[in-house]
This record gives sequence, structure tokens and C-alpha cells, in this order.
Amino acid sequence: MATCEVCGNDYDKAFQVVQDDETHVFDSFECAIHALAPRCEHCDCRVIGHGVEADGRIFCCANCAELAGVSALRDRV
Ligand SMILES: [Zn+2]
Ligand SMILES: [Zn+2]
Repeated sequence: MATCEVCGNDYDKAFQVVQDDETHVFDSFECAIHALAPRCEHCDCRVIGHGVEADGRIFCCANCAELAGVSALRDRV
């Protein structure tokens, strides 16, 4: 049994996600995304796909990066 660190749910099928050497426990992907997914710097949505990264900034898509002033980016497919 493990307890989800986001909602506190005690769930026998909880899973762990390791990020930056830290282990997190969640009962659902929804909670994992809530806790771990970065936000797009431009539109503020959760980046749960590949997203794009430029100069340490994270965006949900190349279009957002471009609108935020980062050029020469392509979506990573
Ligand atoms: Zn949860
Ligand atoms: Zn965006």
C-alpha cells in the first residue's frame, strides 16, 4: 500500500515516479501530472507531451515558444 502524495489516497496500485533522484508516489496519472508536469511559459497549460525546451524554458509547442520570442524551434515528434 502506498499513499498518493497529491490527494492522499491510499491505493494498492499506486506507482512511483523518479524525477531528479526524488521518488514520488501517486495513485493516478492525473495526480502525477498535477505534481510533476511543467507548465508552458507562454499559455500556462500543463506540458504532458514532449513539449519543447529552449534556453531552459519549457513550452507546450513550438508555436508558443515562437510567440514568447524563441525562434528556430521545431516540434519534437
Ligand atoms: Zn492522487
Ligand atoms: Zn503553450
